Amino acid sequence: VGIAGFIDSHAHLTDKSFANDLEEVIKRAYSSIIVKIVVPSIDVESSVEAFIIAATHDNIYATVGFHPHEAKDCSKDAFEQIRRLATEPKVVAIGEIGLDYFYNHSPHETQKDCFRQQLELAKQLSKPIVIHCRDAFADLVPILRDEKYRGISGVCHCFSGTKQDAALLLEMGFYISFAGSITFPKADKLREVVPTVPLNRMLLETDAPYLAPQALRGKRNEPAFVIHNADKVAWLHHADTEKVAAITTANSESLFVLSGKQEQRTLTYKLGNNLYINVTGNCTNDCLFCPRKHNSFLGKYNLRLYSDVSAEDIIREIDDPSKYDEVVFCGFGEPLLKFDVVKAVATWLKKNHAQRIRIDTNGQANLIYKRNVVPELKGIIDAFSISLNACNADEYQRICRPYLGIRTYDSVVDFIKECKKHFPDVTVSIVEYGGISAEKARYLVEKELGCRFRMRSYKSDLQG
Ligand code: SF4
Repeated sequence: VGIAGFIDSHAHLTDKSFANDLEEVIKRAYSSIIVKIVVPSIDVESSVEAFIIAATHDNIYATVGFHPHEAKDCSKDAFEQIRRLATEPKVVAIGEIGLDYFYNHSPHETQKDCFRQQLELAKQLSKPIVIHCRDAFADLVPILRDEKYRGISGVCHCFSGTKQDAALLLEMGFYISFAGSITFPKADKLREVVPTVPLNRMLLETDAPYLAPQALRGKRNEPAFVIHNADKVAWLHHADTEKVAAITTANSESLFVLSGKQEQRTLTYKLGNNLYINVTGNCTNDCLFCPRKHNSFLGKYNLRLYSDVSAEDIIREIDDPSKYDEVVFCGFGEPLLKFDVVKAVATWLKKNHAQRIRIDTNGQANLIYKRNVVPELKGIIDAFSISLNACNADEYQRICRPYLGIRTYDSVVDFIKECKKHFPDVTVSIVEYGGISAEKARYLVEKELGCRFRMRSYKSDLQG
């Protein structure tokens, strides 16, 4: 095709219509012309799902937030969950947020309050916003112009306004994104807007599973179909599709900072005669004692990771694995979020005679992948160190603040039992924090779970 690749800047991969074939949809996207995908959210549940999809897949990113339809459900607790998720490295924006006076699923004042609250969050975290606006530009523009929100960047997704609305948003520095609606026969008015938006201020999206382009109308939309929207933009701009691809992809890269913020990454580091492997900066917990959100360093090593890490990146850094007493997958995040990377690197380590390979984990992999992944690690992993950190679900909820909710603790306990079935060397650790009873914890780990017990200081390390 001669096209470098598109970014689908807005695909609802969390939609239930993708539940049965998400991996195929992603594969199809990458084997067509898609290089990256941004997955937006509409409420807490979809925000958690979008984050998990992003954290477990290369080149997929999440946005988190409350859609105006759901503004009525934006309680203090719900907002707090969005705020915590928004600090994860794979979460690149706050969205979809805005106003929708077409469907009016939430009262206008509630929508405005929720929008303002999330604008403040975006400002605090220096993250861009993804705006949803339908029949509400007259109220949206004055809010965005408020001095308090100066400096916030973003995109107005699936643009449906007039040339004047577009001009106002462009004047404020926002990008405009077009979806499949520009290909619909009755969308002449919208098509007139497209040439008024310079390519260097435009993003492309599918808004999948909605708004399949005219050529595929009636089908479930998916990222691979973005080419139809690009062709239409190219035609309306008297440009070629290659140029549209190159410019809109660069725009998404720059707005969402998709290639990561940091130049220097620490992927491997040595402590004593052990080699540690840092696979991800994302985690499915937000433990009260975890330093990763306010400190990037473990000793002299900067462990903060924003970008995706490949198995090749890691292997390139390891000279001779056999010289270490132990090689440990850990880091400022949950290593099993990069399950395929861990498997590929561990297989290589085994082949190259690593003496002992351990994973330090929060034990949530089976919950994350919705399948039992433990047997897949047989033969390549020697030991597990699993942080349980509490003696019951309520305690875990309070201390570890799992994004996956109250069911997480039981799932971690099941994961430990599963590891114990397949691996002789399983240590379960509880952190010395928040009044956890060491005696109770030791009994639970040694007597009930049959594992080695370790009480560790919350100041010592992360999962290790
Ligand atoms: S301490 Fe470990 S499990 Fe808890 S948030 Fe940090 S990296 Fe995740």
